[in-house]
Amino acid sequence: MPGFEFFGEEERKEVNDVMETGILMRYGFDGPRKGTWKAIELEQAICERFGSKYAQLTSSGTTALTTAMAVLGIGAGDEVIMPCFTFVASFEAVLSVGAVPVLVDVDDTLTLNPLAVRGAVTPKTKCIMPVHMCGSMANLGELQAICKEHNLLLLEDACQSIGATYQGKALGTIGDAGTFSFDFVKTITCGEGGVVMTNSEDVYKKCDHYTDHGHDHAGVDRGADLHPFLGYNFRISELHAAVGLAQIRKLDTFLTIQKKNNKALRVYLEQIPEITFRAVPDEAGDSCTFLSWFLPTEELTRAVIAELKAQGILAGNFYWYDNNWHYIRKWDHLKNATSLNNLNDAQKQALLQLQTQDFSKSDHWLGRCISTAIGLTWTDEQLKEKGEKLQAVVKKVLSEKLVEA
Ligand SMILES: *Cc1c(COP(=O)(O)O)cnc(C)c1O
Repeated sequence: MPGFEFFGEEERKEVNDVMETGILMRYGFDGPRKGTWKAIELEQAICERFGSKYAQLTSSGTTALTTAMAVLGIGAGDEVIMPCFTFVASFEAVLSVGAVPVLVDVDDTLTLNPLAVRGAVTPKTKCIMPVHMCGSMANLGELQAICKEHNLLLLEDACQSIGATYQGKALGTIGDAGTFSFDFVKTITCGEGGVVMTNSEDVYKKCDHYTDHGHDHAGVDRGADLHPFLGYNFRISELHAAVGLAQIRKLDTFLTIQKKNNKALRVYLEQIPEITFRAVPDEAGDSCTFLSWFLPTEELTRAVIAELKAQGILAGNFYWYDNNWHYIRKWDHLKNATSLNNLNDAQKQALLQLQTQDFSKSDHWLGRCISTAIGLTWTDEQLKEKGEKLQAVVKKVLSEKLVEA
């Protein structure tokens, strides 16, 4: 799945270009950097590869989301509708701009359930933020329709779905803005890094200023920059951008391997009639980082996980329902509004309400879901062995439980 599996000479070369000049910062030092501009080069490569008009690199996927929200004017008093299955970074970004995260159910796509979104729209709703989880996509057509009807912003958290598409367009380029993460375990990595993509020049220019203290980048030198508005330091370094530049050139290779391995592994599970698969709104657009599948009951799913563990082959199989990072069930710090500093009253109230909110519709899917990470370096023999073992474990559990019943 992640780009770190294919790490080597190409990354070293790009980083060494930066080491040669010693200019580790993306702005300024025009003379000494001798024409080396890795961040700018990577932004251009991102625009070309994903068909985005503009791209602004950031220090992480989290700061990319924070930047996108601030720049889109999302702040205190605003509600952002987002899924209850995602990575913690999604709600961190909402909270960091002073807005209220409104968590709603996911469906068999493992992403926002459009019906749940409709039910959560209030006069305070400003933005819908689908999270394209585990390499695949949300039902963007329906979400776009809701945005249009209610005049809402669409911000795509595509951090986990680099290279996936919906109706031929790259995820992350379809909404008013979209983000990728380039952290160490993402499809391509910078070590740490992220990007905001947008087709709006206004949004882009604001991202450019906001991620560099609000500096307008219009002065004769950095010290002469003015500040049209407040900003922060969410800059990426040249070293990180250099790694990303080598990685983006490998993306199409990664995607080809992922798709091939994913389809091959799926064949083993398809032979078991009790197994169903995650719904994918546009099958051709799945980046195939994971194969996500469902068992008939939570009990059977837990038994399969236990058996995989007992046989020492659990690694790479994720049961998100029990995972501390990705699902509402285990986000006690969020549900208790445990913050080191004071949250605003609207935020506090909304978070405490999560304690009693009914997420049984999401439990219905997540409680029965296993996501199997797709490796880039698997040999045909390894893939066959994985498929056969996985199939055998599920068959064993199903037959044992059938006997019990
Ligand atoms: C990885 C990730 C992010 C951002 O992560 P960073 O580690 O800050 O780059 C945001 N949303 C989702 C869904 C992610 O998986």
